[in-house]
Amino acid sequence: MKRREFIKSSVLALGGTALMTTGCGKNKTIKAQGQVIKRKYKDITVPLLGFGLMRLPMNGNKIDMVELEKMTEYAFAHGANYFDTAYMYVDGNSETAIGKVLKRYDRNSFILADKSPIYKMNSQSDVRKIFDEQRKKCQVDYFDFYMCHNINVNTFEQYRNVKMVEELNKLKEEGLIKYFGFSFHGTPEILKEVVKDYNWDFAQLQVNYLDWDVVKAHEQYNIVQAEGIPVTVMEPLRGGGLVNLSEKAMAKLKGNYPNATPAEFGLRWAASQNNVVTVLSGMSNLKQMKENIAVFENFTPMSEEEIKVADEMAKIIQSQGEINCTACKYCTEVCPKGINIPAIFSLYNQYKVTNSAFHLKVYYETLSESEKANNCIKCGLCNKNCPQNLPIPDLLAQVQKEYEKAKASA
Ligand code: SF4
Ligand code: SF4
Repeated sequence: MKRREFIKSSVLALGGTALMTTGCGKNKTIKAQGQVIKRKYKDITVPLLGFGLMRLPMNGNKIDMVELEKMTEYAFAHGANYFDTAYMYVDGNSETAIGKVLKRYDRNSFILADKSPIYKMNSQSDVRKIFDEQRKKCQVDYFDFYMCHNINVNTFEQYRNVKMVEELNKLKEEGLIKYFGFSFHGTPEILKEVVKDYNWDFAQLQVNYLDWDVVKAHEQYNIVQAEGIPVTVMEPLRGGGLVNLSEKAMAKLKGNYPNATPAEFGLRWAASQNNVVTVLSGMSNLKQMKENIAVFENFTPMSEEEIKVADEMAKIIQSQGEINCTACKYCTEVCPKGINIPAIFSLYNQYKVTNSAFHLKVYYETLSESEKANNCIKCGLCNKNCPQNLPIPDLLAQVQKEYEKAKASA
């Protein structure tokens, strides 16, 4: 018998005509519509699709609050009431934004997940101080799910030094955290140590059909499953990388399933893993939300045949030599030179997929001078923050070199 409770494998589909009172004395009611599928987790039910708040709708440099409100309302109406934020998301503004929106809803009507920023902690007292700051920003008394954020090869030591587990466990005992977990971007070796540190309620892992091999997600998944720790999935579409497929990967998908979309295929793949509580998708507009919710209203697990096609697509994508950046922007938070690292890697990946040096040159030149790779002073601060453990300065140098070549040949 495992020491933790596994998710009940039964999937609950909730009916869809009742009026759901969500207003906190503000008479806000939402008519329940087609509902996303839910899974039983401990003493609650959790929608299999969660709203990841890392890539919120933007209006210039500001979060588009009108669109966020519409998305939230649509999510509630379809039973997708799980929201996942973090201290550092959207340059530190995600928590405040969702707090403003969710305060109009009854606290019992939504599940809110947040994360403790290891990189901000110097001592054990910082853990509680920042936790209280997060509660204030989110305008809640407690978090349903709370995580030690981004444990990896660089943060592992710090997470132990500040006694994060000990302090967060106290908060759990005080009823301020319902379920306590961690999000992880490290190696299987570190993960084996982390799972022994606490009686974790869940682990947030990067699970998608490409990273199953690339970041050894398969090994990570097996480690936590062996300990009986349920999984919440992050980056099921790899920051959009599995939506904007190359021609070759798309041909493989459409050749087998002409009606499938890359987003639907990637989300279903992640949600088909049986130890998964919820799949978090970082949706940036209402259109994406509608498409994703439709997948989970009519969710069917993947067949073996579909999983085989996903494996073949992963091999095609790996052979293209793209940089495995998920555009999380953790690196830009700390870069003293303001280099637009994710944008540079994104345009480089487009170049690898299209093999068009002309496009590399044209798109690279749309960056401002200060955002370009040649400003890198190789301080290495970005490396420490990158959840994908990318050798960022070396990769920037490589992109710069390819750009110079493209420029010379233009
Ligand atoms: S190594 Fe370069 S890209 Fe990374 S933080 Fe330093 S200056 Fe920025
Ligand atoms: S380089 Fe790493 S830290 Fe920066 S955006 Fe990409 S994945 Fe995130």
